[in-house]
Amino acid sequence: MSSSVYSDGAAYVRGQFVPIAEATLPVTDWGFTRSDVVYDVVHVFDGCFFRLQDHLDRFELAMAKRRLRPPEDRTTIEAILHRCVALSGLSDSYVAMVASRGKPKVTGSRRPVDCENHLIAYAVPWVDVVPKDVQERGAHIWIASNPRVPDASVDPTVKNYQWNDLTSGLLEAHDAGFDTTVLCDAEGFLTEGPGFNVFVVKDGRVVTPDRGSLHGITRQTVLDLCAELGIEALVAPIHRSMLDEADEVFLTSTAGGVIPGARIGHRILGNDRPGPISLRLKQAYWSKHEESGHRTPVRPLEAEA
Ligand code: PLP
Repeated sequence: MSSSVYSDGAAYVRGQFVPIAEATLPVTDWGFTRSDVVYDVVHVFDGCFFRLQDHLDRFELAMAKRRLRPPEDRTTIEAILHRCVALSGLSDSYVAMVASRGKPKVTGSRRPVDCENHLIAYAVPWVDVVPKDVQERGAHIWIASNPRVPDASVDPTVKNYQWNDLTSGLLEAHDAGFDTTVLCDAEGFLTEGPGFNVFVVKDGRVVTPDRGSLHGITRQTVLDLCAELGIEALVAPIHRSMLDEADEVFLTSTAGGVIPGARIGHRILGNDRPGPISLRLKQAYWSKHEESGHRTPVRPLEAEA
């Protein structure tokens, strides 16, 4: 098969590599009927994975927490990710790994242990949670009226497909003419948004929520960068009232990096443009991609044969 059939993306599903459009699931798969999956997303930038081992660590931990055991081990999963990207020929790519509960061996069984867990992986062209032109002008961020699902109900540190609350926030944001949304918990503390963590900057200090959030790899990169750049940073409770005082707000995601905000709710931040600390961290984030420490070059197809 020529690699061009994979140019929209390549997937691994039910043990086979297929063009992305042919990657399908049975409708009885609990990954579909129950959102019973854990997943992770790593990006490939300029032909290299960024922090691949950190993404695999988080994926393994999530699978263990949800008792999902697909047949492929870590080394095999890593090789599958390389092969998906190599087949696609993409040098900038959004690369997902998903462990699904699967479908029960006994039709109609309600017992998770009866399900055949399986791995899905795919590489598709680069995805930004917020379009690049909006990143440039600074995102207009809505504060959702609905709360984030409680941590005790759905563990936010396990990357999952329970997105109803996030999607409700997005619908509301788009109705109001905003680009995206952040959610607070029922007690009014800031959590995260659809596909990203959130940071608030006040008096030169950078803070990200200590609750209701995925331990984002980009969030960690920003915390590391703050330490390197001598910017005070902390993980702490952020009440929504702090948004009335914030100097800057920015979002972080594998799908886009450091994304400055220009407005939060009905407040205009600074001069309605990305703020200086957000821009400094954004620039430092992309510079990190040039350092060898976190880069893993995608293995060419011949190397996998
Ligand atoms: N929060 C949620 C709900 C996410 O889906 C994501 C994923 O992209 C993030 C935060 C950011 O995590 P990371 O920086 O690891 O991509």
